[in-house]
Amino acid sequence: MNEDSAHFPPVEPVKAGVKGLCPRCGEGKLFDGFLAVRPACANCGLDFSFADSGDGPVVFVILIVGFVVVGAALWMEVTLNPPLWLHFLLWAPLATVFSLALMRMLKGILINLQFRHAARPGEIDRG
Ligand SMILES: [Zn+2]
Repeated sequence: MNEDSAHFPPVEPVKAGVKGLCPRCGEGKLFDGFLAVRPACANCGLDFSFADSGDGPVVFVILIVGFVVVGAALWMEVTLNPPLWLHFLLWAPLATVFSLALMRMLKGILINLQFRHAARPGEIDRG
């Protein structure tokens, strides 16, 4: 229990992350533009300098998009056997759009989870 929870009701990290909202108040915006994190929350003033999701979102994007798109492409190849150009036309734009949309959501979720669990970059438990 930290002092923040005395002033703010608990925020659901996944819900706030998908919407790109502040992990403390759940109302202020987390992002400035598409993927850049704001310096602080305009609603509650939380300093976002702790937020460092690093390569975390990218790993999930690669795994999820790779699984879905490669799976769908394999299924289409086996059942419909379409020409190769149709695969390129379909899967390249779909993978790009899917990746970009997921990237923002996963970055929001990971920053929300980072705040919730008070994880700080570079911190190692030496206990
Ligand atoms: Zn806030």
